[in-house]
Amino acid sequence: MLDALFFRSWLTATTVAVDREAERLTELDSPIGDADHGSNLRRGFRAVAAVLEKEAPDTPGAVLTLAGRQLISTVGGASGPLYGTLLRRTGKALGDAPEVDEAQFAEALRTGVDAVAALGGAAPGDKTMLDALVPGIDALDGSPDSFGTAREAALQGALSTTPLQARKGRASYLGERSIGHQDPGATSSALLFETLAETANA
Ligand code: ADP
Ligand code: MG
Ligand code: MG
Repeated sequence: MLDALFFRSWLTATTVAVDREAERLTELDSPIGDADHGSNLRRGFRAVAAVLEKEAPDTPGAVLTLAGRQLISTVGGASGPLYGTLLRRTGKALGDAPEVDEAQFAEALRTGVDAVAALGGAAPGDKTMLDALVPGIDALDGSPDSFGTAREAALQGALSTTPLQARKGRASYLGERSIGHQDPGATSSALLFETLAETANA
């Protein structure tokens, strides 16, 4: 079973990972974007860690909805509302249960990923975060072991964005010139699955 502490640990691990990878994420965002993805997420996840510390929400749903709202209110770029929606909608789907099992979480996260697709109007193949989020969620089958499989699937999804031409977001303005670069948002989404697997195995 996964409790509020599990989700707080996941988000704290993500804050650490985003801090560590911020420079690389911003570098990926420079040829096909505006070189701010790492700094956007660093600001957002630091604010998430701070508000979780301060308010100490005590259910999985409350942890994720609070984190999502915080990302939406602190990150100006496209990724803030998108990741904010992912966490907020996943949290809402979990309701106020004190603990959830892996299958309930997988189902809720699917709701969150669907909400990201609805908000941004993107689908897999458009060279966005969905190219990592969708394979990641597709690999989660409700068993505890599937967190490791999902991590690998999300990573492969992020790597698969390199030859794609962007059809959504800032990178799409470049047309064919967006080809040959890994998408920064898909890379940070793979990081979210990486910290999820690490937290599940801790
Ligand atoms: P901005 O582009 O506003 O500067 P960021 O640099 O923080 O925002 O985030 C860029 C990332 O957001 C992209 O690499 C892409 O993965 C993701 N993204 C942008 N637009 C969309 C969209 N419509 N749907 C899904 N993801 C998107
Ligand atoms: Mg950017
Ligand atoms: Mg920007």
